[in-house]
Amino acid sequence: MSDTKDMNAPLEVPYTDWKPEYLYSQGEVSRFFREIMENKRLYASRCAKCNLTWMPPRGHCPECHDSTEWVPLSGEGTVRSATYCYFAGMAGDLVRHLELPYVLALIQLDGCDTYLCHGVKPPRQAMGDIVTGTRVKAVFRDERRGSIADFYFEKQS
Ligand SMILES: [Zn+2]
Repeated sequence: MSDTKDMNAPLEVPYTDWKPEYLYSQGEVSRFFREIMENKRLYASRCAKCNLTWMPPRGHCPECHDSTEWVPLSGEGTVRSATYCYFAGMAGDLVRHLELPYVLALIQLDGCDTYLCHGVKPPRQAMGDIVTGTRVKAVFRDERRGSIADFYFEKQS
């Protein structure tokens, strides 16, 4: 009796250690990420028609769909809501440079009408230092790669 396997058929071997690499375009908000990476600056976008300033920035106004213009920010803002996190969870990349516990906060950057959800490094690794109304400032990492994780926030002194 002969073997019925087709020895010329493609051999498929499961490979589970695959880490895909690809280029992801930031599209019309590329300047936001480029300013972070190259100049350690935060930029929002403003709709001249609605006079709304968006953070995270939008290439077009979500309210009226008109194009927006870039507005430089100081990097300072106010915490509008905060929660202490004792594990990285889904925010792992965003807060990978912060120790546990970190604070995940909605931050209204000065001059903006919307809130940015981002990580805040509490001055002590204990609850209570970052609360609604706390003033914070963006801190940029030494190594930046054009990512939202290139910066985080600290309490202003
Ligand atoms: Zn608008």
